[in-house]
Amino acid sequence: MFKNILGQQKAVLSLQAQLRTNRIAQAYLFAGPEGVGRKKTAIEVAKALNCRNKEQIEPCDECPSCRKIDKNIHPDVHLIDFAWQAGLLEEKPEQQTQIKIDVIREIQREISLKRFEGNYKVFIIDQAEKMSQSAMNCLLKTLEEPPENSLLILVTTSQDMLTQTIISRCQIIKFNRLMDSIIHKILTEKFNLSTNLDRITKFANGSVAKASSEDFIEKTEFVNELWSGLKSKEDDTINLLELSKKISHDSEQTKEFINNLLILIEQDLVNESRFSKVAEFILSCKRALRYNVNLNLLTDVLLLKTQEIICR
Ligand SMILES: [Zn+2]
Repeated sequence: MFKNILGQQKAVLSLQAQLRTNRIAQAYLFAGPEGVGRKKTAIEVAKALNCRNKEQIEPCDECPSCRKIDKNIHPDVHLIDFAWQAGLLEEKPEQQTQIKIDVIREIQREISLKRFEGNYKVFIIDQAEKMSQSAMNCLLKTLEEPPENSLLILVTTSQDMLTQTIISRCQIIKFNRLMDSIIHKILTEKFNLSTNLDRITKFANGSVAKASSEDFIEKTEFVNELWSGLKSKEDDTINLLELSKKISHDSEQTKEFINNLLILIEQDLVNESRFSKVAEFILSCKRALRYNVNLNLLTDVLLLKTQEIICR
């Protein structure tokens, strides 16, 4: 139900108004950060359009149609993502880096068929910004002449990577980063963990998907423990180098680690004179990520030098 989508009132109200007045666009662009409810909202729209209990705008969540869509097995509703493409092309999911033209051709074949059981054929394309140029060009044809009772929802974090011609044919619905209070509320209901909830919320940077993943929670614990060790001077050089090895050595993940470490340092040291020095140093490490630096070496230096500055 739409009421399960928290913190996106503007987007939800606008879609509900369109559903109520039967003025659904033929293509939407759901744009906003990762993990704030874009895909979830797209699925609710697909459910509302196909729900068998028609007396309300809210999908009922109980009829066979709503249930099938929730389980992603409705024959008229398709969630297109890298996993779906991998299945279509008989490749491994991890090999997928772009949405290829073959996927768009498959959508075009499918969209032209009669509806199986629903009122609407809905195609939700996740990470639409990853479409190749030829895929985007191919999709234009469908956006120009969409069959009746069909809906395309492009979901994206980076609207500017789509061509202007695609954007101009979609109604744009913007999704915001979630407020910390909303992430906190969702996490409390989901996990019932109290200790690090504030910290996890802060690190999640407005994304509830991020905040509720196990991997993310583990990483939060890791940074937290690491910082406790650093500031209490508990760790010697060998220890620190061991810890450095545990930081994931992929540029994005390292950046996230650095951001989170900085949040903790700011929290504890903001009123002290050593804060500006350590912050300046850590930011210089973050800048170094833009170049092709050796990430192992970077995190080694980051930990050793940070401890040196704060323990001076
Ligand atoms: Zn229903």
